[in-house]
Amino acid sequence: MQNKLYIGGQWVSSSSNETVDVINPATEEVFDSIASGNEADIDAAVAAAREAFDNGPWPKMSGAERGAVLRKMAEILTERLDELAAIEVKDNGKPFPEAQWDIEDTAGTFEFYAGLAEELDTSSEEVIDIPEPRFSTTVVKEPIGVAGAIIPWNYPLLMAAWKVAPALAAGCSMILKPSETTSLTALHLAEIAEQAGLPPGVFNVVTGQGRVVGQALAEHKDVDKLAFTGSVPVGSKIMKMAANDVKNISLELGGKSPLIVFSDCDIEKAVEWIMFGVFWNQGQVCSSTSRVLVEKSLYPALLERLAEETKKITIGPGDKEGVLLGPLVNKNQYDNVLQAIDRGVADGAKILTGGGKPEGFEKGYYVEPTIFTDMEEDSWIWQEEIFGPVVCVKSFETEEEAIRMANNSRFGLAAAVMSKDIPRCKRVAKAFRAGIVWINCSQPTFCEAPWGGYKQSGIGRELGKWGLNNYLETKQITSYNSDEAWGWYIK
Ligand code: NAD
Repeated sequence: MQNKLYIGGQWVSSSSNETVDVINPATEEVFDSIASGNEADIDAAVAAAREAFDNGPWPKMSGAERGAVLRKMAEILTERLDELAAIEVKDNGKPFPEAQWDIEDTAGTFEFYAGLAEELDTSSEEVIDIPEPRFSTTVVKEPIGVAGAIIPWNYPLLMAAWKVAPALAAGCSMILKPSETTSLTALHLAEIAEQAGLPPGVFNVVTGQGRVVGQALAEHKDVDKLAFTGSVPVGSKIMKMAANDVKNISLELGGKSPLIVFSDCDIEKAVEWIMFGVFWNQGQVCSSTSRVLVEKSLYPALLERLAEETKKITIGPGDKEGVLLGPLVNKNQYDNVLQAIDRGVADGAKILTGGGKPEGFEKGYYVEPTIFTDMEEDSWIWQEEIFGPVVCVKSFETEEEAIRMANNSRFGLAAAVMSKDIPRCKRVAKAFRAGIVWINCSQPTFCEAPWGGYKQSGIGRELGKWGLNNYLETKQITSYNSDEAWGWYIK
C-alpha cells in the first residue's frame, strides 16, 4: 500500500509518480511516504465510483446487507485497534491512549451506521397524507450518488469514519481524500473495507495535496455530493468550486468556542473541564473551548489553580507512557501556533504560563500548554482559531455580559457553561448561538447526536440520523389512482 492509491478495488500508482514524505512530529524524522495524486488519479477514482454506483450492486442491496459489511468493518477495526492507534501516534503525534479512543470511536461509528443502514429497509419509504382521495403519495429516500470526502489531520481515521460510514450506509460510492499530513490510516481503511466484502469501486482513496487532488475532487462534474471538514478559508473555496455545478455540500469548519464558568462552580471540576476542553489532542480540536469566561469573583482563584495544574501536564512523544500532551502535527502547525502566541503578546495580552517550546526538547513540534489573560475582546488572539494548546481567559460580571461576549464571534461551532444552578445553565445553553452545547462538561460527544456549527463554523450536520441524511436524496412518488379522466383539456 506504500505510495499507492486505492482505486476501483486495486492498489495503483499515481500517474504523477510523485510522493509526499510522512514525518513523525515527535522526532521530525521521515518514516514513510504516500503517493501524491493528481487530477488524472481523481478522474480514475471518480470513474470507478461512478461505475460502482450506476451499475454495481452496492446501492441496490438491502440496508441489512450493507449493514453487515459495515459491522464487519467495525469488527476488523476493533481487532486492529492498537496497531491503528500506534500508526496515528506516529503520523499525528497524539498520545497513545487518545489514539486508542479515536479508533474505538471509529469502530463505534461504523457499528452505529450499520444499524441505521438496517433501519433504512423499513424507514426509507413513507406514505404522506394528502387531501385529494384520487391520489396517493409516498416519499422515498435514495442514495445521493457519488460522494467526495475531504478531511483534516486532527483525527485522521475518525474524521474519515464520520463521512465514510454514513455514505456507505446510505448506498453511495465514494472517494476519500485524507489530509496529506496524515493519510496512513485512510489507506488501512481501504484494506479493511475490502476484507469486509465491500464491492470494488465503492470506496476509493486518493492521497495528495489539497490544492491538487482536493480541488480536482471538489470541481469534478461527476461527483454528486461533497463533504468537507477543515478550515474556514478552504471551506469557503470549496463552496465556490461546488457552486459551478451546484453540488450538494456539507461543511464542518473551525471554531473559537466559549466556556462560561459561573462562581458557584466547584473550582476543581471547572479546572479539569477547561483543561480537557483545550489541551486534549494538543488543542487541535475544532470544538476546543479556547475562550474561557470566568465570573469575576472566581477569576483570581480559578486562574491560580488552572496555572498550577497546567504546569503539571506531562509533555512528550505520544508513545511514551504517562504523556498527556504530544507534539503538534507538523512544522507548519507548530510555526502557526508560535506565531499566534507572539501576536497575542504583541497585542498586549499577558502569558500566565507556557508560551513557547518546552525545555529539553531539541527535536519535535512541541508547544507548551499556554494560558493568556488580559486580552481585548476584539483582539486577534481572542477572536481567531489557533488550533493549538492555547487558552484565553477573561472575566465577566453578569450572565447577560457573559452571553454577549460568548456570542461575539464569527464562529458558532460549540459552547459550554458550568454552574450548579441548572435552570441557569439551560437558559444560557439556549442563548448560545452554537451547534453543540455542553452543560457542566466540555467535549464529550456521541455518534448518535448531531455535530456541526452555526455561522462560519459550517453548513449542515454530521453524525446521528442527520449524518445519514447528508447522503440521501428525497423523492416523492405521486400516483393517480382514479378511473375518472383528469378532464382539463379533454372533457
Ligand atoms: P485545511 O482546511 O487546511 O485542510 C483540510 C483538507 O482540505 C485537507 O485534506 C487538505 O488537503 C484539503 N485542502 C486544502 N486546500 C484545498 C483546496 N484548495 N481544495 C480542496 N481541498 C483542499 O484544514 P486542516 O489544517 O487539515 O485542519 C484544521 C481545520 O479543520 C481547523 O480549522 C479545524 O477547526 C477544522 N476542523 C473542523 C472540524 C469540525 O467538525 N467542524 C473537525 C476537525 C477539524
